[in-house]
Amino acid sequence: MNVIRADEMGMCFGVRDALQIAAEVEDPTEVTIHGELVHNRIINERLADAGFRQSDEQHRDCRAETPLVLITAHGVSDAERERLRSAGKQLIDTTCPLVRRVHDAAAELRAEGRHVIVIGKKGHVEVRGIVDDLDAYDVVAGVEDVRVYPSNRLGVLSQTTMPSDVVESVTREIHQQNRGADIRFVDTVCHPTKRRQAAMLTLLDRVDAVVVVGGANSNNTRRLVELCRQHDKPAFHVQSADDLRPEWFDAYENVGLTAGTSTLDETIDQVHRTLLRLGHCPEETGRMK
Ligand code: SF4
Repeated sequence: MNVIRADEMGMCFGVRDALQIAAEVEDPTEVTIHGELVHNRIINERLADAGFRQSDEQHRDCRAETPLVLITAHGVSDAERERLRSAGKQLIDTTCPLVRRVHDAAAELRAEGRHVIVIGKKGHVEVRGIVDDLDAYDVVAGVEDVRVYPSNRLGVLSQTTMPSDVVESVTREIHQQNRGADIRFVDTVCHPTKRRQAAMLTLLDRVDAVVVVGGANSNNTRRLVELCRQHDKPAFHVQSADDLRPEWFDAYENVGLTAGTSTLDETIDQVHRTLLRLGHCPEETGRMK
């Protein structure tokens, strides 16, 4: 069995920078991470071992016992930032600049008097951070959620990790259902996400199935899995090499490998090595790097 790696995959600069900032914290026991720093179990366990506390991802509040609160790469609203400061917390901010760009775009659309439509996953922390500063908005996960909106000025943007084709089809549907409205679209899918999705699509022509490495609750990892399946390729989502099952690969000669933006390089390499072992393939023919 051959294992072919996607040309672009794995950890993005936003996650690397956030981890670097966390690594430079002098005393982790003084810091509560406001939700999951990244959606990756292995990384979060290491942060906990280092002494960091962590607020529950779905119920982040301002009652952290530590004096310092670390804002994750997914960002928070200005309102949330203010709530934390009012509670006396000092903030360590690891918000990705590309998430900030979405917040700025949303503020601009609102300032133009537009009803803001966010294409993204309802309840996702990044989406919550974007909409929490808006008075009127809609979150749309797919074309089925689109409706006729109560404004003839609309502003459309998306969560950074949405697949571009979903963003395009939802935007088209918004236009169709809101004919005559003045609609401004801002493309806020982040470049690392676009490049990983494009690299995986290129890979699909050369493989029989794909292994996608990433956290179980990582949105961009799950999107890579969905994208594979939409193109009729079997996809196996694993968090680590331990999740691989030999019987999955009995029928395949060429297996692709990709990973979400919060996956450690070492985890990808472990999965790669295990796949080569399962396929009785010497490492040098499996292009380990
Ligand atoms: S996925 Fe994109 S927006 Fe999110 S942290 Fe990485 S680079 Fe930033």
